[in-house]
Amino acid sequence: MPLVTLKIFQMATRKTLPTILTLCLSLCVASINATPMDMPPREDGSVLVGDIAYSAEEWESLLAKNLQSLKILWPKTNGVVNIPYKISNPEVNTALMEQAFSAWESKTCVKFSKMAESDKRLEYLDFMIKGYCYSYLGYRKGITTPVSLPSSCTFKAFEHELGHSMGLRHEMNRSDRDKHIIVISGVKYKPGLDSQFALMNTINFDIPYDYCSIMHYKDKAGSEHDDEHTMLALDARFQTLMGWCSTNISHWNYKLVNTMYNCTDDWLKACKQASEPCKN
Ligand SMILES: [Zn+2]
Repeated sequence: MPLVTLKIFQMATRKTLPTILTLCLSLCVASINATPMDMPPREDGSVLVGDIAYSAEEWESLLAKNLQSLKILWPKTNGVVNIPYKISNPEVNTALMEQAFSAWESKTCVKFSKMAESDKRLEYLDFMIKGYCYSYLGYRKGITTPVSLPSSCTFKAFEHELGHSMGLRHEMNRSDRDKHIIVISGVKYKPGLDSQFALMNTINFDIPYDYCSIMHYKDKAGSEHDDEHTMLALDARFQTLMGWCSTNISHWNYKLVNTMYNCTDDWLKACKQASEPCKN
């Protein structure tokens, strides 16, 4: 993004933001790659892109297809998506974890259930601690889905990482995001975080773009000192709100999970509603 445009933007007030955005639309050129490339592998060969981890095989597949695969969905039995879990590090904050379970379970058909030690299933969430807050993506056939939840993770981060563990990607990676945000080029990113803003060929299940999604980053997220805008909202009302509307899971987050898992009807029945009860 040309420096002069950025300076103008930084001086913008909410009142002038729409004008600035119009100006920026003609000047900003997003230089982010269509796919996140060149991420160095970790010691075990996995790749950590922001807070989503991929095995080497998953990463290659993502680069090749750049598509949100339905194979990452957990199996559903009798209308319930039962996601088993184990806690392999006793220092994980189980109080926050259970609150986050309840938040997702209250309006979806997903149930998180603790496994007995003797349970030999291969596919489950493995709550552990390894550096940052991050998660692998969704169900992984034949292997566990590790979710790292160190003490630095907030309640919202717990909800967010559970979102990844169920198969949700980041909102700003959606295939239609350019109709809703501008990803600013030329920003000094924290190491590796530029790839967080890649445009992906996601399946959106007819769910509208949601600035208030718990899976959306804030408008300055990823910049070197968290002080530069990395995204502009094309609906100016959401410039300072994106990724920050609330600590609560949004209506569209719930709707997306229920749609992905084909259980909107079950959810409505469970809460004795004939149709969608609310909108954001
Ligand atoms: Zn994330």
